[in-house]
Amino acid sequence: MQDVISKLVKVQELEMRATKVSASDAEVIKALRKGIPDPILAHYDRLRIRGKKGVAIIRNQVCTSCHMGVAIGTIVTLKQGKDIQLCGSCGRYLHLPPEPASETAVAMLPAKPKRKKRAAVRVPDAS
Ligand SMILES: [Zn+2]
Repeated sequence: MQDVISKLVKVQELEMRATKVSASDAEVIKALRKGIPDPILAHYDRLRIRGKKGVAIIRNQVCTSCHMGVAIGTIVTLKQGKDIQLCGSCGRYLHLPPEPASETAVAMLPAKPKRKKRAAVRVPDAS
């Protein structure tokens, strides 16, 4: 499944590189899209139509598109490459770039429960 996201990242790079996609790029995009399941492409295209990125890169455990923290369980799943994951905040596909081996052992940390909604930044005092 990780392979699918890699293809999606390439498609996005090519599509966003210029306002007009060249003929040779269009061929590459077509070939890449063939290797991506339809439901995934459909969600990606929905985001792209609205002028958004369809795939967000995770950096320092944060989604680089919406700057919200990504649950550690999501990152672990991505690392295992078993499944694709959506950002719980902005709904983009998450892409975990290959990291240097010195990165902290993510698997050691306890898994956070999945957040459904964007967490409030500050809760006003009830008093
Ligand atoms: Zn996000």
